[in-house]
Amino acid sequence: MKTSVYMVYKKLFDAFGPQGWWPITADGETKPVHSGKEPNNERERFEIIVGAILTQNTSWRNVEKAIENLNRERMVDVRRVANSDENYFAELIKPAGYYNQKAKRLKGFAEFLLKKYDGDTAKLFSLDLKDLRSELLNLKGIGPETADSIILYAAEKPVFVVDAYTTRIFSRLGFTAKDYDELQKLFMENLPRDVALFKEYHALLVNLGKNYCKKNKPDCNRCPLSDICRFQKHS
Ligand code: SF4
Repeated sequence: MKTSVYMVYKKLFDAFGPQGWWPITADGETKPVHSGKEPNNERERFEIIVGAILTQNTSWRNVEKAIENLNRERMVDVRRVANSDENYFAELIKPAGYYNQKAKRLKGFAEFLLKKYDGDTAKLFSLDLKDLRSELLNLKGIGPETADSIILYAAEKPVFVVDAYTTRIFSRLGFTAKDYDELQKLFMENLPRDVALFKEYHALLVNLGKNYCKKNKPDCNRCPLSDICRFQKHS
């Protein structure tokens, strides 16, 4: 039987169950948790945006430490980020790496949101998906993966997030795509446009890529996709 995009999802979901992405910090707490809860206020939506930018080139564990620092200082707030001293802000997000660059990006994002949308993510997210994506991609330091993470998890609009794990796993499974857009199309055209499904699928791929389909020495014997994987069959 030909491997389908949905078949891969089904196997991963059956093996791992719900992943609860994107982690959000509950009121009064400092640590984001994988509850699977949808963001339902300004702080939660902004925290997802912050996390999507902080997670560039680093692991979620490091992002979590930076977000805890920000929560302790009540800095998950668009106005406070925009008005903060850049060195102070960079120090808070240091655990996430590339902190000077990321501080500039986050402050730039906060300034953009304030200036153009009164600091209100709901106003920004009222754009349709296509306009929202091009608005985000126009910002410095926001590439397709970051823009799509914001659109899917914070704005809750149906776009598939392609990351390095997705690219590696699907190329090993035998799917060919020349770039980000082509791989994204594979998911968008072969799955129902369902926000919850896109979130879950992306999170399942993160789990597989992190714990089984590693860059070096993938753990194919324990992998739930081993019976349909081309890489496994030829290795
Ligand atoms: S079988 Fe191996 S190569 Fe294939 S997806 Fe699983 S871990 Fe990756």
